[in-house]
Amino acid sequence: MIRPAELIQRKRDGAELPDDELTELVLGYARGEVPDYQMAAFCMAVFFRGLSERETFVLTNAMIASGVTIDLGGALGRKVVDKHSTGGVGDKTSLAVGPIVAACGVPFGKMSGRGLGHTGGTLDKLESIPGFRTELSLEEFVVQVRDVGLAIIGQTADLVPADKLLYGLRDVTATVDQVSLISASIMSKKIAGGAQAIVLDVKVGDGAFMKTLDDARTLAATMLAIGRNAGREVTCLLTDMDQPLGAAVGNALEVREALEIVRGRGPADITELVLTACAKLLAYSDLGIGEAEGRRRAEAAVADGTAETTWRRWIEAQGGDAADGALPTAPVVRPLLAPASGFVSSLSAVGVGNAAAHLGAGRRAKDDEIDHAVGVVVHAKRGDRVEEGQPLADVHARTEDEAERASGEVLAAYTFGDQPPAMRSVLLEVVD
Ligand code: URA
Repeated sequence: MIRPAELIQRKRDGAELPDDELTELVLGYARGEVPDYQMAAFCMAVFFRGLSERETFVLTNAMIASGVTIDLGGALGRKVVDKHSTGGVGDKTSLAVGPIVAACGVPFGKMSGRGLGHTGGTLDKLESIPGFRTELSLEEFVVQVRDVGLAIIGQTADLVPADKLLYGLRDVTATVDQVSLISASIMSKKIAGGAQAIVLDVKVGDGAFMKTLDDARTLAATMLAIGRNAGREVTCLLTDMDQPLGAAVGNALEVREALEIVRGRGPADITELVLTACAKLLAYSDLGIGEAEGRRRAEAAVADGTAETTWRRWIEAQGGDAADGALPTAPVVRPLLAPASGFVSSLSAVGVGNAAAHLGAGRRAKDDEIDHAVGVVVHAKRGDRVEEGQPLADVHARTEDEAERASGEVLAAYTFGDQPPAMRSVLLEVVD
């Protein structure tokens, strides 16, 4: 029997832990035998000392072994592809990628998480759709992917339970942004969920867990190594998170924008990212096509309306109301006007993310209820020329007071200049 306190001490002092002891720590935690306070101390020791590549593989495998795994590909008789984002502000990419890929004839079954810190979570966004069920049984999940081509659900209690526990613990102990812990968390879910090929969207910037391109490259290399070690194909897209992705930040607002992307009317930056991810996923699939053809088919599914039809079938299959007017709306919508003329030099993603979270779109504590209707829609982004008095953003709030406070926070997220800033595209690098 391991002694958790000894493992914490050895990790604290920089030792590499033996495979069997690290595995037993994780499995013991998932069984409820290792208390939260010891696991929290262990995560903090890992935060400062890191894990070796070997320890990161062992951690990932132990997390997978803490629960059941699904052979989605075997159940469908198809190669299964998946995508995951490391988390950002305004990131509704999966909501649009799913229906487009499924409309192209490739099954898309995904398990998503809730918001962490100032970042939004796909599950919270989906739950803003009245009636939408994110808790399907594994059988229902497989049947829906087979029959509708698409399902996005929450992590079930029996799939990677160690991650479910660790994720919540890390969120409240300042131990989220550690490369090995993020890599093991994401890859354990993808591998246990049965994906054979995975596209990872690794966010870089002030609104992401990885603030610099170098740190994002390290995270990408770690996840690639875990994927290869498990025999999976993996591509990492390193993408900009120095400003919100698209325009909408907040749950129902983001669902509305995702549908606009699926209809071909979304903002340019996120549309580009969605189509890039779709092209990679289709090229990884069993359709036997390359990326250029994948891109062409994704664009065609958007243009001919099959992606939108698939969106509706998916929402309804999971019990949601797919009618345009069904999403909740906030009682107060206040425009934020530009205080002076100039160019937008920067728009802090974390600033806008925090403003939306303070309005109620995110959680302060693990079990907080969130307000699905509130958030921020930005109209002016980096590089845009604005004139004094022109709307920069709309704040969607529960009360006038909250709208007032959030307007101040969103304005503080903007910086302006006389000259256009250096531009960077949403897709920064591809690592595979
Ligand atoms: N997304 C995850 O699934 N896990 C993390 O640790 C961070 C982002």
